[in-house]
Order: sequence, then structure tokens, then C-alpha cells
Amino acid sequence: MRNYNISIIKGDGIGPEIVDEAIKVLNAVAKKCDFTLSYKEYLMGGIAIDTTGVPLPDETVEGVLNSDACLFGAIGGEKWDTLPRELRPETGLLKFREKMGVYANLRPAIVYDELVNASTLKPEVISGCDIMVVRELIGGIYFGQPRENDGFKAFNTMVYTKPEIIRIGKTAFELARKRSKRVCSVDKANVLEVSQLWRDTMNELSKDYPDVELSHMYVDNAAMQLVRNPKQFDVIVTGNIFGDILSDTASMVVGSIGLLPSASTGDKTAIYEPIHGSAPDIAGLGITNPIATILSAAMMLKYTLNEEKASDLIEQAIKDALKDGYRTKDLAAFDAKEVLNCVAMGDKIVEY
Ligand code: ATP
Ligand code: MG
Repeated sequence: MRNYNISIIKGDGIGPEIVDEAIKVLNAVAKKCDFTLSYKEYLMGGIAIDTTGVPLPDETVEGVLNSDACLFGAIGGEKWDTLPRELRPETGLLKFREKMGVYANLRPAIVYDELVNASTLKPEVISGCDIMVVRELIGGIYFGQPRENDGFKAFNTMVYTKPEIIRIGKTAFELARKRSKRVCSVDKANVLEVSQLWRDTMNELSKDYPDVELSHMYVDNAAMQLVRNPKQFDVIVTGNIFGDILSDTASMVVGSIGLLPSASTGDKTAIYEPIHGSAPDIAGLGITNPIATILSAAMMLKYTLNEEKASDLIEQAIKDALKDGYRTKDLAAFDAKEVLNCVAMGDKIVEY
């Protein structure tokens, strides 16, 4: 029987409750699809600081590197906000992403018919919307050198090399091949040299993908178009900072932050996590929506473990539960038949 080793990082705040629900659903589909999953739990973030003194223990890095995939909850909280930057949970997370080499952050933004009223946009504008934002995650202005702030003058540097652009571009084109075969590359080539290289490289690369249509858009226009007519997009590929902003914009097209999963992939172990944070304000209250994390687990099955059938089963179960009116509190206002707590929503998804 196929067996996969999954590293688990629950983290802080609502992290443990959402990961527990995802594991519950994973076990249920594994049984249905005849494979097994072995889990090993590792510490990161605030709980790692409290237990070991550092936000990213070496043991965590090694354990995740030796696993087939990593399921991640969320880290951080007020308790650790006053620590020096080096010791904060978030610093551990950035180091972790860098060490795992996860250069491609995939953030699907799918509007479910059942929740078409949950968005701030009009139903006819978003109905059927299915976007995949492909964000470069370990380069660009967030990582570029030199960087400095001397109290009078401060600067950061936006750097991309051709190989970095090619590898994220390939991810986008390959994904588009399995979707509607359209890639929109977002940059600011009218102003930035780094964006010109980005655009030229995407054009060059597109010659290897004649079956995929490539278009370009300036980032300011892309932000407007996402809100004006999100259905025009299939795959959006962009750099770190533009992707950060555009994927959050795309999440508001969908409705609740509790619905959006993500995959961070590269050459080593891929990390699957919800796009939201540790939400300490609602931790332990039972009102957390576990769907973003359960969908992240579904992405793990599809993208890393090649268990497509199991992944589809999870997605379908979520759609069915939503169609029948089951909601967590964040979605209670939208045609709810019954409002469930976090554990009950996990149970419901297992049932379907
Ligand atoms: P981070 O910096 O880690 O991204 P953040 O400050 O952006 O964190 P989140 O932790 O993402 O904040 O939470 C923002 C708010 O969204 C929370 O206060 C919570 O009310 C809500 N929220 C986040 N995740 C969920 C969820 N899964 N279910 C319900 N509500 C959620
Ligand atoms: Mg946030």
C-alpha cells in the first residue's frame, strides 16, 4: 500500500485546531483511496520559542526535509511580539521558507456557487471565478540586497535573475496547461528595469508553451481588473511583492479568509498552509473555519502526493457541505441552514 510521511507543524493560536481537522479529513480519504499517511509533529513559532528558546529548531528543518510534504497551521501571537526581531515567530517562518527553497506560492481563489453572496462583489461579477495566483516567494524586494535604514535614508532592492524568473514562469505555464491555458504575467515594466527583464523572460519562455496564451498587465491595472472583472483571469504569475498584494485582493473576491488554501513549492519539501494567520482572537472558541486548511491538505494530495482522486473527494465534500447550508460562524450570514463549530465542520466534511 502507498504510504506517505507527512510532517505536521501546528503552530500557535488556531493552528492546532485547524490542523487537527485537516488530519481527520486526510485520514478519511486515505482509507477510501487505499493509501496510508504517517505523521510526525514538529515545533515552530511561539510554541517553539516557549519550548526550545528559538522559533525554528534545527530538528524541525531536518524533519520537514525528510518528509514527503508538510502540513502547516499558523504561527505567531501578541505574546511574542515584543521579542527582538531575530527571535520572533515570523522570522522563523521566513527562514523556514528560504531553507525549504519554496519559490512558488500557489494561491487558488475559487468562488463557490453556494457562497456567491459572501463576497463584497456582485454575484454576477464573481460567479464561476477560478483564479490561480502564482507568487514568487523567496526573491524580489523582500529578500534583495543591499537593504538599509539609517534613520535618514532607507532603501530596499528589487532583484530578479533570469533563472529565478524562468523557474517561476515554468510553474505558471505548467499549471495553466492543466487549466484554461491562459497566463497573465503581472509587472511594472513601464517603470522598472527588473520588470522589463521579467517581461522579456516570460515572452521568451512562452515559446516553449505554444498551447498557452500569455498576456501581460501592469500591476496597478491588474489590481483594478481583479476587482472589476476577476473572471478574465486564469493563472496570474508575478513577483513577491506584487503577488503578496494581488493574492490578498483576490481573496476578497471569494469572501472569507477562512476559505483560502495555499501551496508553497520548490525543489525540496512543499509546504501546505491556509493563507490566513493564527487568529489568536478566536483560538479555542470553536468558531474557526477549518476549510482553508482542509483545502490546503487537498492541494497537498494533488500537487505533491499525486493522489488526485482523494483530493477531488475532499473538494467535493466541502462543496456538498456548503451546498446543504452548513457554515462556520464567519459564513453564518450567507444562507446558513446550520452553524457548526470547527470540529463539527470537520466531522461534516468527513461524512460527505
Ligand atoms: P498574519 O500576520 O499571521 O497573517 P493577521 O494579523 O493577518 O495574521 P489573521 O490571523 O489572518 O490575522 O486573522 C485575521 C482575522 O481573520 C482574525 O482576527 C479572525 O477573526 C479572522 N480569521 C482568520 N482565520 C480565520 C478562520 N480560519 N476562521 C474564521 N476566522 C478567521
Ligand atoms: Mg495576514
